[in-house]
Amino acid sequence: MTLALADRLRHVEGSPTLALAAKAKALAKAGKPVLDFTAGEPDFPTPAHVKQAGIQAIEANHTRYTPVAGILELRKAIANNLAHRLGLKYADAEVMVSCGAKQALYNALQVLCDPEDEVIILTPYWVSYDPLVRLASATPVFVETKEADGFQPDPAAVKRAITSKTKAIILNSPSNPTGAVIEESRLKELAAVVKGARSDDSLLIISDEIYDQIVFPPARVRSIVQVDPTLIDRTILVNGVSKSYSMTGWRIGYAAGPKNVIDAMINLQSHSTSNPASISQYAALQALTGDQQDVQRMVAEFQRRRDRLVNGLNQLKPLRCTMPGGAFYAWCNVSGLGQSADATAAQWLEDALVATVPGEGFGAPGYIRLSFATSLEQIEEALTRLGQWMRTRKPAGAVRSVERG
Ligand code: PMP
Ligand code: GLU
Repeated sequence: MTLALADRLRHVEGSPTLALAAKAKALAKAGKPVLDFTAGEPDFPTPAHVKQAGIQAIEANHTRYTPVAGILELRKAIANNLAHRLGLKYADAEVMVSCGAKQALYNALQVLCDPEDEVIILTPYWVSYDPLVRLASATPVFVETKEADGFQPDPAAVKRAITSKTKAIILNSPSNPTGAVIEESRLKELAAVVKGARSDDSLLIISDEIYDQIVFPPARVRSIVQVDPTLIDRTILVNGVSKSYSMTGWRIGYAAGPKNVIDAMINLQSHSTSNPASISQYAALQALTGDQQDVQRMVAEFQRRRDRLVNGLNQLKPLRCTMPGGAFYAWCNVSGLGQSADATAAQWLEDALVATVPGEGFGAPGYIRLSFATSLEQIEEALTRLGQWMRTRKPAGAVRSVERG
């Protein structure tokens, strides 16, 4: 028997990135020599001093409820971190801690959106933006970014997409999945578009900066609120420790923004998850305030892997891959193969045991995402296998599509 679900869940499927990562792990567990390029998470252990802080939190019995918005020390540390890195001044009360950046985004969209509202999302987009907007009963409006333009947002196209119903625009720089780092000049133009759209300040920005420390020179990340600090009153900045500190499983993200929005997000969180795990909060506090050398070490390693993977893929004609300026994804144009990305990803998995995520879930058919949060040896082996696959591949046609379950 299938029971009826709420309308707003009708078009919401599970995260394809998480589903494909689980599938790759299951294959590996079953003894298949699968090479996993699905995972959107660093493969490094959490830095030792951060792990130690978690252990100490347990020993010190920091194992009870904390304030819903997180322990004050952590909120202060986040505010200090933003002041230090971005030069932006947030009060402690303008910061809240959540169960990963994902929950911060969820909270923000839930408290901001009404059913008639629209939210602008730039494609290709991270797989959860579309469902997160729909779960808030709002409507996603997609604005394309183009490969030929380095996947930079087109401020004129954003302007055209704004209607009287537009509540917010989601920005993500560096981007998952393209790795594009939004240039300062584009941010300035976007800021002007947002400010010029209405006579009041009712058009908001949700700036997902979760990859902002994983950036490869000469690319340079700027936040839209750095570029135009007057936007601080209408921007919800989202970040966390998951990616920069290799802490995906600890589940600590945060939001910083106007106090009334943050208060509403805290109220919402008080009725859903309450505080994020107390132990994780102490570990995150250490991550943000302790030694930062591990971050630099991990970024340098990501850069080596990026160079090898992207250059290697570009040698496998007709595959084509722009050099990502940040994050840890190679975004590969596979349209030259003459079949869907879904079909290609399914064949790579089946024929070459190389697990990737096809672009359909990112609103960008024709592309495949390969996470380079994996070892150089695995990258070499995958390039060898994909090279062999290209030489021996069956012609386009009758192929199965990737199961998303
Ligand atoms: N935003 C983007 C762009 C991401 O790739 C991720 C990765 N899951 C998140 C937010 C969520 O991060 P977290 O694991 O902290 O919830
Ligand atoms: N953000 C990561 C990814 O895109 C983790 C998986 C997820 O949360 O969707 O793969």
